[in-house]
Amino acid sequence: MHQMTLAEIARGLADKKFSSEELTKNLLARIAQLDPQLNSFITLTEDLALQQAKAADARRANGETGALLGAPIAHKDLFCTQGIRTSCGSKMLDNFKAPYDATVVAKLAAAGAVTLGKTNMDEFAMGSANESSYYGPVKNPWNLEHVPGGSSGGSAAAVAARLLPAATGTDTGGSIRQPAALTNLTGLKPTYGRVSRWGMIAYASSLDQGGPLARTAEDCAILLQGMAGFDPQDSTSIDEPVPDYSASLNGSLQGLRIGVPKEYFGAGLDPRIADLVMASVEALKKLGAVVKEISLPNMQHAIPAYYVIAPAEASSNLSRFDGVRFGHRCENPKDLIDLYKRSRGEGFGPEVQRRIMVGAYALSAGYYDAYYLKAQKIRRLIKNDFMAAFNEVDIILGPTTPNPAWKLGAKNSDPVAAYLEDVYTITANLAGLPGLSMPAGFVDGLPVGVQLLAPYFQEGRLLNVAHQYQLNTDWHTRTPTGF
Ligand code: GLN
Repeated sequence: MHQMTLAEIARGLADKKFSSEELTKNLLARIAQLDPQLNSFITLTEDLALQQAKAADARRANGETGALLGAPIAHKDLFCTQGIRTSCGSKMLDNFKAPYDATVVAKLAAAGAVTLGKTNMDEFAMGSANESSYYGPVKNPWNLEHVPGGSSGGSAAAVAARLLPAATGTDTGGSIRQPAALTNLTGLKPTYGRVSRWGMIAYASSLDQGGPLARTAEDCAILLQGMAGFDPQDSTSIDEPVPDYSASLNGSLQGLRIGVPKEYFGAGLDPRIADLVMASVEALKKLGAVVKEISLPNMQHAIPAYYVIAPAEASSNLSRFDGVRFGHRCENPKDLIDLYKRSRGEGFGPEVQRRIMVGAYALSAGYYDAYYLKAQKIRRLIKNDFMAAFNEVDIILGPTTPNPAWKLGAKNSDPVAAYLEDVYTITANLAGLPGLSMPAGFVDGLPVGVQLLAPYFQEGRLLNVAHQYQLNTDWHTRTPTGF
């Protein structure tokens, strides 16, 4: 049962081959048996899951249909879930039960999805390895000594290990696409504003975007359908109609113009990944695509700009965790300042503290112009590069990450080494563009992802290209040994 995709589950439920309750019990048992090896869940919500599964079965019995009705999923633990711990992977929020559901959570529940639990993540979504979680690191099911990527590493590891068919993630600088690449999944970061951020605990508000992690593009289409849409509660949500993503999967790729940026193939990229990327280009050419070399000349400035803007916004967003309103409070504070200092010092881990300090520094009077303003200008140049490129091509293709999954602990002493792994993903966030990572082969037994980027609101085009690729390749069907 656990091998089924969301699409197969939807068909099975519609054909009454099994009930959602049966499926849910089966997956909960599998999680209990296998997750201790992976640590992909922070909280399991068995009671809620069984209640939702029974309700979905009853709705189907009443004639209701829908691809998500009775489908088991999980949420990254920064989506607020009413009455359920929403920890953000942090000691700061270990005792926080959200008083309401995030829009994404509410929408998926209304569509009949069944929530199995809340998945592990880097603390406050800061990281590329899922090693900064207060709840311990997540292991990569392809090799338990390696990281699964981050920050949505729990969602990725759980789906890759077939503990469930799909899960939500968020992507501020790559946190859906990068763990998807490192665990052999398909992951999609939508256009900024496509998916509501209401109830999604903020890391860097101008970059954060929720999206689906699943095994196939077909399943990403199903999950995104349930997540996307205008939300008046989120002032950056965009009031654009949501297309039928599943209907977009079958378009022909004849004449599709693929741009491959020459800057993507510089020093730092594992040559074996470069070869797999070029093999994916060849596969798409066979389907009728035409390929063109393009240039994104400001790409080299993306990491420094991102690592000013994201920490700056984080330092502002995280100021609300002060020991007074929610979360961790220190014992016996001697005065208000002591309360702030010790609550924050005890509640936040080292990576979060580092980013708050960098961000507060970049925003301080005297340094604002030199760092923050400069970074915002670079952000505009990066966006302009993409706009120019999309005048010539329909899609941009390249590696998702420069390297396959590294060993647990390998980059712990050097945060900048981990920041460099984001080189291909962060530009989409800086520009607000949609991006998708899909499985494209293996290096030393570890999965490799190819990233596709498209113009604003062209999620359907990304899913179309990935689906056609997946109809003609079998990388995405490979299962990690032992799972
Ligand atoms: N690795 C990046 C960071 O640490 C991106 C994280 C994310 O997308 N949430 O900021």
